[in-house]
Amino acid sequence: MSATINKVCVIGAGTMGAGIAAQVANAGVPVLLLDIVPKDGGNRNAIAEGAVAGMLKTDPAPFMSTRAAKLVETGNIEDHLGKIAECDWVIEAVIERLDIKQALYARIEEVKRPGTAVSSNTSTIPLAHLVEGRSDAFKRDFLITHFFNPPRYMRLLEIVAGPDSDPAVVDKVQAFADVAMGKTVVRAKDTPGFIANRIGTLWIQLGINEAMDRGLTVEEADAVAGKPMGVPKTGIFGLVDLVGIDLMPHLKASLTGTLAKDDPYQAIARDIPLIEKMIADGYTGRKGKGGFYRVNREKGKQLEAIDLASGAYRPKAKVTGVSGAAAKGDLRALVETKGKLGDYAWALMSGTLAYAASLVPDAADDVVAIDDAMRLGYNWKAGPFEMIDKLGAQYFAERLSAEGKPVPALLTLAGDRAFYRVENGKRQFLGRDGEYHDIVRPEGVLRLADFKLSAKPLLKNASAALWDVGDGVACLEFTGKMNALDGEVMKLIGQAIPLVAQGYKAMIVYNDADSFSAGANLGLAIFAVNIAAWSEIEKLVAGGQMAYKALKYAPFPVVSAPAGMAIGGGCEILLNSDAVQAHAELYTGLVECGVGLIPGWGGCGEMLDRARNAPGMPKGPMPAVAKVFETISTATVSKSAQQAKELMFLRPEDGITMNRDRLLHDAKRKALSLVEGYKPPEPPTFRLPGESGHTGLNMAAEGFHKRGMATDYDMVVSDALATVLSGGDADTVDIVTEADLLTLERQNFMRLVRDKRTVARIEQMLETGKPLRN
Ligand code: NAD
Repeated sequence: MSATINKVCVIGAGTMGAGIAAQVANAGVPVLLLDIVPKDGGNRNAIAEGAVAGMLKTDPAPFMSTRAAKLVETGNIEDHLGKIAECDWVIEAVIERLDIKQALYARIEEVKRPGTAVSSNTSTIPLAHLVEGRSDAFKRDFLITHFFNPPRYMRLLEIVAGPDSDPAVVDKVQAFADVAMGKTVVRAKDTPGFIANRIGTLWIQLGINEAMDRGLTVEEADAVAGKPMGVPKTGIFGLVDLVGIDLMPHLKASLTGTLAKDDPYQAIARDIPLIEKMIADGYTGRKGKGGFYRVNREKGKQLEAIDLASGAYRPKAKVTGVSGAAAKGDLRALVETKGKLGDYAWALMSGTLAYAASLVPDAADDVVAIDDAMRLGYNWKAGPFEMIDKLGAQYFAERLSAEGKPVPALLTLAGDRAFYRVENGKRQFLGRDGEYHDIVRPEGVLRLADFKLSAKPLLKNASAALWDVGDGVACLEFTGKMNALDGEVMKLIGQAIPLVAQGYKAMIVYNDADSFSAGANLGLAIFAVNIAAWSEIEKLVAGGQMAYKALKYAPFPVVSAPAGMAIGGGCEILLNSDAVQAHAELYTGLVECGVGLIPGWGGCGEMLDRARNAPGMPKGPMPAVAKVFETISTATVSKSAQQAKELMFLRPEDGITMNRDRLLHDAKRKALSLVEGYKPPEPPTFRLPGESGHTGLNMAAEGFHKRGMATDYDMVVSDALATVLSGGDADTVDIVTEADLLTLERQNFMRLVRDKRTVARIEQMLETGKPLRN
């Protein structure tokens, strides 16, 4: 058996199979995607080929780069099944029919090598049924790998091993799914719906039943079962619209057919005439004519919601929902809210959380697996047991029993204790034996939060902190709202450099948040503009330039490790680092032009330096300048770390980590790899095209303007950018230093920030999050 996975075969090129194949390709591993031969007698690979072509047009994109798409080889199961012999893992993602899956396994068994793992993406069929009739050798290599849709973006992977599965095969698949595909693997038992969908389906059904029985509107229900519960704001009805209302009867049929007769789900599963009618009439949600909500195009795109009693659409109502602490995640306050909203919250939460508590050890070994599954599979902020801790396990048990409802044994076991605690700097969970156990994560899975359990920051102010993350590495963390950057961050960088230089080998810039940084704090900027504190603004620009260059020329390596958004000043920090270790889901760019500004913290010079050295860049000063002008003036943001390399925000040698939970560990490793013999870079000098280049860039921009793709004010902003990138009034032979470019950035930034049209852009961005096209 080979210990690693070098090639994968995915069979079934539908929603899931195609998406899974794309994620394997995103990991840089070749993948063979097969489907049936279409009956029309035409192209025998048409289905798999069509799936790849379709994915190249899908938004959000399943592929992280066009290069990844090239790693997918397409074919069909009649002509190409033999190629499975080249593969180390075969993932079956064909339609949910036992007979079809079993027939396919019989054919796979004939061609696969011993030790090649075979897994099914089934949502509902027990493993024991899938392997019926197969050899012992096949059973050893078989497991269930249940991905979530869309496979690139949903982090959860439930893995179910059978009684005969070889642990080494399962471990091999798990390691690949974790490290290469970036999934967080949760081990589930071979029970219906596994973990996430079992709890999720009950939660949805209960949410719909209770809303209908209690006379809540869909807006009211979603206002409660959304943000206040730490659930995405789609709530329940919005979520069903998203996944497809037609899925509901299938889920119900599958779970009622397979779950034990006394399972609590059986008591609440019911056919809902309104839903049946909606499906029959094509109202299947967002993919259909509409769902519980719809956009009425005949009425000028009016947003509407369905009346649960009559089934008629009416304008969507603005509901106040719950208020105070209940609205802000205080679950006890939520379930104690007087009136129908609080009653609904209690009915839904108590039913769901008690159900989850009854599933250990039937569906999962411990509470950690259940919480991970719900956080990652349904995007809940906290898993069921973390929610019970917020309510208080004892409070929860007492209220259940006061209402005559059964109290799950696990709750009784907890008594007045919490399911999680921190002991000696380690997070622990309450086991089935009534004892606390350390939460053990795979090697290399690390969060800054882990260090915070047992340490104090080395430095800290209102917007940033510095931590010791072990092995001689310090970690700079942004802590402000949306990790925005301001004078406090720059001040802390100034303090951190001598401290790290004295006592540490390297520094990383990392935080646990979903988004690395939203860039400069525009709220502060607008405040300063309103009181005409121009010198304060210039100080902030100059202070940022100094701090970022101090990082660049620090006597130790600096590695930035961004995930999610890293825009504006957040992107410039990457540009000024020695190296980047990025999460694969990196959305980075210099977006300043969108708010009527230009990069002011060294972004222009750093991009010029990269562009002129980029492979294939034609010689002479103009091509690189034109390329950077295009990227910055259009505020281009990468849709992945791979794409950030193509856009030159990352260097070719920068690292990419697929699993978000491994980013900190990988960043540390990257930083330590740069320590030996480290020398700060030499400040670059440039030959830039000067006045003639400036004119050329303006002419290019004017072309966009004439075609209506750029506004009048875009022309003013891009002129300021062109001034910087062409080196001001330098002429081609002049040497332009990095310091000269910083001065140009500052001058032109200040020119723009004084313009009312820039102020209007910033204000709209702060208010609505959307750019103003003035
Ligand atoms: P789908 O209908 O989108 O795609 C199924 C594909 O299988 C089709 O392209 C079909 O042509 C192909 N197919 C049918 N018979 C085949 C055969 N004998 N050999 C090869 N290909 C064959 O279905 P899907 O939603 O992608 O679901 C696939 C599997 O994943 C199912 O087991 C489903 O339960 C499971 N699943 C689905 C989701 C989801 O959200 N859609 C989530 C998790 C798991």
